[in-house]
Amino acid sequence: MMNKVTQNKMLAAAKKAALHAYAPYSDFKVGAAALDEQGRIYAGCNVENTSYGLTICAERAAIFKAVCAGAKSIKAVLVFTDTKKLTRPCGACLQVIAEFGENPEIILANKSIMRRYRLKDLLPERFG
Ligand SMILES: [Zn+2]
Repeated sequence: MMNKVTQNKMLAAAKKAALHAYAPYSDFKVGAAALDEQGRIYAGCNVENTSYGLTICAERAAIFKAVCAGAKSIKAVLVFTDTKKLTRPCGACLQVIAEFGENPEIILANKSIMRRYRLKDLLPERFG
């Protein structure tokens, strides 16, 4: 399990990313932070498109950024939304997370709550 300092850094990165979310269609702004094996943090936000299917989630944006920067595995993903209910990653994002980590931590957060899971809690059987 990660330490509190790292967790707080991830939360700050995800919160900041959510401010940049491009969500004119859903108005649902999401920020994510991915932690790699070297302790580096990458942030991502959702980016929607007028052709809805082209939309990318914040979690995948963060992970793809990590991979581009040379990350070899993902140790944790934090998802932040400024909503009352916590937001869990969609199935596509869970599958992408599974590609880069055996059983990483998945942390769901809003402004007041933080809940920790393991990937296998949310995706017991991945495609592969
Ligand atoms: Zn997703």
